[in-house]
Amino acid sequence: MKRILKYLKPYRKKVVIAVLLVSVSSICDLLLPTLMSSILDNGVRGKDFGYICLCCLAMLVTAGLSLATVLWSNKLAARLVADVSCDMRADIFRKVNTFTFEEFGKLGTAALVTRATHDVETLSWIVSMLASTVATMPLLFIGGFVLALLKDVVLSLIILAFLPIIVIAVILIGKKVLPLWENSDLYIDKQNAIMRERLRGIRVIRAFGSEAHEHERIAEATNVMAESIIRGNTAMGILTPMAMLLLNVAIVLIVYLSGLRFGSGLSAGDVFAIVQYVTMVMNGVIMASFAIVMLPRAQVASKRIGEVLDAKGMGQNEHGIEHTLEGNIRFENVSFSYGGANKAVSNICLNIEKGQKVAIIGGTGSGKSTLVSLMLGFRMPTEGKVLYDGIATTDLAMSCVRDGISSVLQGSAIYTGTIAENIRMGRPDATDEELYEAARIAQLSDFVDTLDGKLEYEITQAGKNLSGGQKQRLSIARAIVKEAPIYIFDDSFSALDFLTEKKLRSALNEHIRGKTQIVITQRITSAMSADCIFVMEKGELIDAGKHDELLERCKVYREIFASQTGGGTK
Ligand code: ADP
Ligand code: MG
Repeated sequence: MKRILKYLKPYRKKVVIAVLLVSVSSICDLLLPTLMSSILDNGVRGKDFGYICLCCLAMLVTAGLSLATVLWSNKLAARLVADVSCDMRADIFRKVNTFTFEEFGKLGTAALVTRATHDVETLSWIVSMLASTVATMPLLFIGGFVLALLKDVVLSLIILAFLPIIVIAVILIGKKVLPLWENSDLYIDKQNAIMRERLRGIRVIRAFGSEAHEHERIAEATNVMAESIIRGNTAMGILTPMAMLLLNVAIVLIVYLSGLRFGSGLSAGDVFAIVQYVTMVMNGVIMASFAIVMLPRAQVASKRIGEVLDAKGMGQNEHGIEHTLEGNIRFENVSFSYGGANKAVSNICLNIEKGQKVAIIGGTGSGKSTLVSLMLGFRMPTEGKVLYDGIATTDLAMSCVRDGISSVLQGSAIYTGTIAENIRMGRPDATDEELYEAARIAQLSDFVDTLDGKLEYEITQAGKNLSGGQKQRLSIARAIVKEAPIYIFDDSFSALDFLTEKKLRSALNEHIRGKTQIVITQRITSAMSADCIFVMEKGELIDAGKHDELLERCKVYREIFASQTGGGTK
């Protein structure tokens, strides 16, 4: 509730206006039956045509005013719901951008999507419903009841007899429906996750011919969800006919009792007005009890959104030391674990000096990419320190680390947009010539030249119209265009043939001469020309040195070399 109030705060003026408008329309609605009853009692019975016309005119004006205020307030409310949802979604998006990787892992992409879409929608819908009943209910209920009492006390008391029945029925139905909805919310997460996974892996599914099995899996999740929704809506469907039945029974009772009581000064107009007021009050009560039943559902949605908004997020260390990186990196006894008992890297000590060209080599799962995450400050060491020019990453402002490093991460990320836009992410103010130069160094220019529109060629979502090697080279071009003292390439040449890699590396070395360069690789040919090669195995740094030295003394390095060169020693 607090969260909602916080989001409504900037729009309080609109909220007040909307409530006032709704109140005016409720007052108009309350006036109508009284006017009608006086037409019947004074106009029709007294055959006073002028009076009837006057009352009709008054009714027309009142109804018009009610209509206008309702339309206006609905428009305001719709706008308000849209604005609040928009703010909430923007906050979720901003927050997700600051998530640590652990937080990403805990919630999962699919759940994050449903939080920003489905949950925000549910919450704003229920809030708007609650708000409109909260604004109209007291007026309609008290006003309608008092006006009915003024007409006839005994007949009005019939409302009181029926109220508990309606409230109990609505609450019972609500109790039945609520868990069903919660269940369907839960399955929306699941279904979304399965669907995402399926769509991403569609090629594997087709290649293995497992469509039928996958279809079954998704059908299972969908069916549970559909069943919950159908059962929920069926239960809700009972509500309206039941309310109508009760209402009509009440009306019959009123008419019957009024027949018995006609002698006591009760007029036809009075009976008419009482029937109208009873209808109003009962409708109001149904709406209000329903809104109250929905409250827990809003709480569920708010809790789910809260899981995102209240996450701690990654500290950007804004108050940390501002320092322009020079290019020296040191790992002091660094260990890191992804949460389990096993350490992904343990007790790493390494020193990379400004301007050095180093390579980190090792088999898959040996901890190379984990070292990159630690360098970039994506993860903080569980033990030990990562230092830049002698300052620990924990003390540095994170923006300095990010500004000082240009990296190509494993698994190239390409975005929808043109080639130029993708490269320009490296440096937003880069000119077209600089972009083209970066593409040339990344050995992409031959390819770009063949494209319609060259750098303006449109890339479809996630780079689907590019090959693996083209995507890698595009990511490399993006890193090249950024100017930084440190360049990191994590498995970035793996999809390139040897000749292309050779050309690219020599152009790259030329371009970033004097900058610190860290190449992470499984290929001996990518590593051997480095000033220093670090050899990783099972999360440990087992040796470091030049190619020749390592061949002499490091068994693991020799094995990697032998496996890739067909057994020779050099
Ligand atoms: P490399 O890059 O050398 O192939 P990684 O640094 O990616 O190796 O992985 C090192 C170890 O950490 C592996 O055992 C891997 O299973 C584990 N690991 C990597 N990423 C994660 C993660 N996000 N969550 C849990 N474990 C991970
Ligand atoms: Mg890796």
